[in-house]
Amino acid sequence: MPNKSFIKDLNVKYSIVFRDIKYPRLELKTGNLIIIVPRGYKNPEKLIEEHEEWIQKKIKVINESKERSKGKKLNYERSEEDLRKMIHENVDRYSIKLNVEPNRIILRNMKSKWGSCSSKKNLNFNKLLKFLPWELIEYVIFHEMTHMVENKHNKNFWRIISTRFNDYKQKENDLMDYWFLIQSELMLD
Ligand SMILES: [Zn+2]
Repeated sequence: MPNKSFIKDLNVKYSIVFRDIKYPRLELKTGNLIIIVPRGYKNPEKLIEEHEEWIQKKIKVINESKERSKGKKLNYERSEEDLRKMIHENVDRYSIKLNVEPNRIILRNMKSKWGSCSSKKNLNFNKLLKFLPWELIEYVIFHEMTHMVENKHNKNFWRIISTRFNDYKQKENDLMDYWFLIQSELMLD
């Protein structure tokens, strides 16, 4: 487990992770800063200073999301079985629309994502999706399935997304809000 520390000036927790990678990178998706560096990397903390502006900007976005999330509510009515059924039905529907053939659909607990799509065309969905409004679950399904057509979040990717979800920016923001709402209501992390 990575060591958790705290940056006072920025009011954010951070951890350092050593991995078999070439270049260091910073992640701040979940509200905590993760500094990912190649094995043997010296003084990873220095990256905090170097990228302070970027970190501050991200923290601002996160704080705004947390503020918005106070006006949202989780759905406690939907069961995991309901979620599974809805996902399968919609994967079938979107397979036709996108002309793709997913391999497996897997529901599991995921720590930092709503879903993912592997190169083997396995679709993974976070079980926590059951707490979300239906249109956001639908958006996550379509988003992950679009990755079977376009791997990266590039222009083409968002073009395909907008054929079904014109308001994808709003959806991405909403997903972030619900992420923080779940973190605070279910006391995760
Ligand atoms: Zn994506």
